[in-house]
Amino acid sequence: MVVPIELIDTKVERLSRLAPEDVVPATEEILPPTETATPLPPLVDGFGRRMNYMRISVTDRCNFRCTYCMPAEGVPWKPRGEILTYEELLRLVHVGTRLGIDQIRITGGEPTVRRNVVDFIRELAKIPGVRDLSMTTNGLLLPHLAQPLYEAGLRRINVSIDTLQPEKFREVTRTGNLEHVMNGVRAAIAVGMNPVKINAVIMRGVNDEDVPALAQLTVDLGVDMRYIEYMPIGVSWEECEKHLVTGREMRERIRAAGMELEPVPPDYPEEPARYWRIKGARGRIGFITTLSEPFCATCNRIRLTADGKLRPCLNCEDEVDLKSVLRGGGSDDDLIAVFREAARRKWAGHQLRQHATAANRVMSQIGG
Ligand code: SAM
Ligand code: SF4
Repeated sequence: MVVPIELIDTKVERLSRLAPEDVVPATEEILPPTETATPLPPLVDGFGRRMNYMRISVTDRCNFRCTYCMPAEGVPWKPRGEILTYEELLRLVHVGTRLGIDQIRITGGEPTVRRNVVDFIRELAKIPGVRDLSMTTNGLLLPHLAQPLYEAGLRRINVSIDTLQPEKFREVTRTGNLEHVMNGVRAAIAVGMNPVKINAVIMRGVNDEDVPALAQLTVDLGVDMRYIEYMPIGVSWEECEKHLVTGREMRERIRAAGMELEPVPPDYPEEPARYWRIKGARGRIGFITTLSEPFCATCNRIRLTADGKLRPCLNCEDEVDLKSVLRGGGSDDDLIAVFREAARRKWAGHQLRQHATAANRVMSQIGG
């Protein structure tokens, strides 16, 4: 449900407008790990799926309050001491690469509000086993950060934009400024990030009318446009179902607007999005159909929360605590055992219909 902007508690607005230095842990000097990596047998779950993709949430803080992601009043931030330091994260990535994790996506909360995120990206990009490094962001700080992030080694970026109508954008994000975010997208394109992908969560009665206009970005800006089905994380299945628009319906809306779509292959077989292209467009149109056409059978992902838990699936509360092993003086072998335990706990499917209300975290605390 979209909350009218005038009803938002002023304290929430104030909080969400905090400058980055107010909402990030104290400055950290980043020292890369010293151990030499020896490859190990890959990380494989109980269903034979190989996990080579880790989404790392670097903060649970955010400067937006998107209606589909967190409540209007926000969620209590984890104390700073509970958030993994960059050194801890780098050590975990080193360990992960020994298990064959070669794709890393940085997310949040909003990753760009964490201080020194550019330095962190620079260190990540140096890790030899990291073949693919990307970030998911709300884009607000990209006008300033696109260039330094690119220079630090980030080449791929996803920006969340759910509508091209400024007023509606503000309602959905509860605080966001569309113009700043669009400037961020243009900055990312201008510095040479490729691909730049736009993510939109489509909700009936909120932004389902905006589907064709967003598709036009693949022509006008040459970006990839990805539509995400609304997921019941932190809300009930019944509430989610009211707003759910399937990928199929979104494609019908695009075609009904006179845009002809032709299917195109994904970047790699395990990619959750299925892609189409408007004839002649540079960018592609992707659909992440978690609920209507789940892609769990080919899932290659594991998630690391900002407070140091390995989460086997987006919707699985059966997390394994990496932080206590890290901070308890655990060896790399101990950490590897935690990775393998998380893989063992991975479900066959997301169970979002069965366990929608049981989620112990809202999306911003997981990382999407
Ligand atoms: N703050 C960054 C952003 O918004 O891109 C990164 C974190 S956000 C949690 C990651 C992704 O999760 C975003 O693309 C967002 O649209 C998506 N997301 C959040 N809540 C969702 C929901 N209930 N259903 C589907 N996707 C959701
Ligand atoms: Fe923040 Fe991203 Fe969640 Fe929006 S979707 S509230 S920008 S974490």
